Amino acid sequence: MTSKVYFLSWDMRNELYNFLKSAMIFNHVKSRNLLAIKIHFGEDGNEGYIKPKYVLPVVKIAREKNAYPFLTDASTIYVGKRSDACHHLLTANKHGFTVEKCECPIIIADGLRGNTEEKIEVNLKHFKTVTIAREIYNADNFIFMSHFKGHEITGFGGALKNIGMGCGSKAGKYAMHHLSKPTINQKLCGGCGTCVKHCYQKALSLVNKKIAMDKEKCAGCGQCIVNCIFKVFKLKWNEDPPAVQEKIIEYAAGVLKDKKSTYVNFLNHISKYCDCFALAKNEPLMNDVGIVAGIDPVSVDQASYDLVNKAFGKNFFKEIYPEIDPTIQLKYAQELGLGNRNYELVKY
Ligand code: SF4
Ligand code: SF4
Repeated sequence: MTSKVYFLSWDMRNELYNFLKSAMIFNHVKSRNLLAIKIHFGEDGNEGYIKPKYVLPVVKIAREKNAYPFLTDASTIYVGKRSDACHHLLTANKHGFTVEKCECPIIIADGLRGNTEEKIEVNLKHFKTVTIAREIYNADNFIFMSHFKGHEITGFGGALKNIGMGCGSKAGKYAMHHLSKPTINQKLCGGCGTCVKHCYQKALSLVNKKIAMDKEKCAGCGQCIVNCIFKVFKLKWNEDPPAVQEKIIEYAAGVLKDKKSTYVNFLNHISKYCDCFALAKNEPLMNDVGIVAGIDPVSVDQASYDLVNKAFGKNFFKEIYPEIDPTIQLKYAQELGLGNRNYELVKY
C-alpha cells in the first residue's frame, strides 16, 4: 500500500496555488470549519521560516470552501520572543504574518502564558495522555505548513514534529523534552518572586531571598523557566533522541485523533538547526528543493527526507547529525498508524 505525495520544484514555487488545487488534497476542509493552519512564525532573527506569501494560496483555497482559516502556533518552553502570546504575536507581525498579508487572523493556541491546554487520552508507550494547546483541540480540522530542515534533537524536523511538538502546550513540550525537573542556579536569583507566582504546583519558595525548589512537587511544566528573566532555571537537554522522537509521535497521535489534515512541507533554506534558532550559522547548507504535499504526514515527511538526500547527493541528515537516526519518528509513526512510509511521488 502506498500514499500519494505531490511535489512542486522550488523554481516553480509561484505555482503553489495551482499545484495545491490540482493535487485535490483539501477534501477535509468543509464549509464553516474553524480551520487551524499550523505554522512556525520563526524565532526573532531567524530567516528559515515559511514566508507569509506562501500562506496566502492555502488560505485562499480554504476560503473558497467557505471555511474560517486562522494561523496558529503554541508557545516555546525556552525564553525567547515566542514564549508568551504577546511576544509571539509581535514576532509573527515582524515577520510579515499580518491579517493584511495572510488574509486570516493569528490565534496563539495555548493562550497568553502557554498554559491554556487540554488533555487527550492516547494510552501509548510513553504517555497515557498528551497535553496540547487548547485552540488546537478546539479547531475542527488542520492544515500543517512545515519547514523541512535539520533538527538538533530529532535529526530532521518536518510535518510530524510540527504536529507533535508544535501543538503541545508548554507542559506538553516539557514532557516531550525530558523527564527531569529544571535545575536551579541560585547564584543568579535576584529574589523577585515572579517564578513563585507562576508555579501552579507550589513547588517554589524563597528562602533567604533565594529560590528553592521542592522537587517532589515539581511537575516539570517549564513555567519557571519562561518567567525568570535571570535564567536561573535550566532544562537538561539530555533525553535520549530515540525517546524524544517517539514522544513527539505520541503527541502527534493525540493531536490528530478524530481530526483530518493536509500537510504541506517546504524544502527550502535547509539548515542544520530548527527555526527556533536565530543564529548566523543557521544558514542553508544546500540548494532549495521544492514543496511536498499530501494527506499522509508520514509519507509527506518520508518523501521530503528522500528528496533532500537525493538533491544533496548523499544522506544530508547523517552528514550533519551522525549520532541521530531521524527515521525513528517515521518508523514509530507508521507503527502507530499515522501513515505510510511507502509513497508514490506525483510531480507537478
Ligand atoms: S523569577 Fe528568577 S530571579 Fe525571581 S525569584 Fe524566581 S528564580 Fe529568583
Ligand atoms: S517546572 Fe516545576 S518548579 Fe517550575 S513552575 Fe513548573 S512545577 Fe513549578
